[in-house]
Amino acid sequence: MEKGKMVIERKPAAWLTALILLAIFTCAGCAKVDEQAPYIAHEFMLDTDIIINIEDSRAPQISTAVFQRIAQIEKKMTLFSQDSEIAVLNAQAGQKAVEVSADTHYVLTKAIAMSKITRGAFDPTIGPLVKLWDVGSGLARVPGDAEIQKALALVDYRSLQINPDSDQLHTVFLPRLGQVVDLGGIAKGYSGDEAKRILLEHGVRQGIINLGGNVMAFGHKKDGNPWRVGIQNPLAPRGTYLGIVYVSDKAVVTSGGYERYFIKNGRRYHHIIDPTTGYPANNGLISVTVVADRGIEADALSTGVYVLGLTEGKQLIDSMDGVEAIFITNERKVYTTAGLKDCFQLTDGDFSYE
Ligand code: ADP
Ligand code: MG
Repeated sequence: MEKGKMVIERKPAAWLTALILLAIFTCAGCAKVDEQAPYIAHEFMLDTDIIINIEDSRAPQISTAVFQRIAQIEKKMTLFSQDSEIAVLNAQAGQKAVEVSADTHYVLTKAIAMSKITRGAFDPTIGPLVKLWDVGSGLARVPGDAEIQKALALVDYRSLQINPDSDQLHTVFLPRLGQVVDLGGIAKGYSGDEAKRILLEHGVRQGIINLGGNVMAFGHKKDGNPWRVGIQNPLAPRGTYLGIVYVSDKAVVTSGGYERYFIKNGRRYHHIIDPTTGYPANNGLISVTVVADRGIEADALSTGVYVLGLTEGKQLIDSMDGVEAIFITNERKVYTTAGLKDCFQLTDGDFSYE
């Protein structure tokens, strides 16, 4: 994995200021934001740009503590190193159970719970298919049908054995040779939750942590108003927003096929794989944003609901307390769940409500 060097600046570079202002609108408007000089720290981790935006006299030290915590999570769960706990679990598939830390145990347990809720649309054992498609590597190609069937046969969240969490000993087992766990659809959400926890521990009451579009809008703005989080227009360059969601103390997580993809024979193949077909999800949605209390749930749900599609996905979110969503279709139609009626503002006239 490419590793960015940690850069912490009191006065953010012009491009970064622009990025932040685009990514996080604050009601005070741009001028005020500069006057308030919020502390901004950023680093490349979890294969994405992570930005911490807080106001506190000890912000540099606190941000460092947050990045250290995210680095710990990454070290345990990444597939880009052979000695992460998840890489070891995968290497021992079909052979033996492996011991994992409480962090990994928790994320795996939560991942399985989210698989059940999404009826397998989110599935952390999707690894063999993710490897096969290899979207985003530069080596991606459209696999043959036989390869897809072979990989598909290894994908089944129900087969992952998570042994009871007793005596601080956590063991997990993948029973079949070739099975691969991939936490790419949930680890950033968990990291957002942990980042918030560390900030609270340090007495920080509000801020924004943006993990590559996986936003933790924590507390509310200093003036008491909710944060304004821009929702990416999936058809336009990064930083172009189609609307704003107003939230306090929520995770706002978007999944879509518009950032990691390749094109072959005029068709676009992206990185979110439908565990029933083995192909990238292709059901008319171009993005799903989930708003929830916890990042870990919002992250898994946004991936799962993107696979489920509009009808099933919306039914699922409607049935969940405290979880809301925005669905964007390839016909530029926008659907939101009832709870977002007064907290989402569509700003781009190219999109319309159904
Ligand atoms: P991103 O990580 O790009 O913000 P997501 O949270 O939707 O977006 O996660 C996509 C990643 O999740 C993929 O790169 C892959 O590692 C993994 N993944 C792909 N399909 C699935 C799936 N059906 N269930 C669980 N994880 C998936
Ligand atoms: Mg996700």
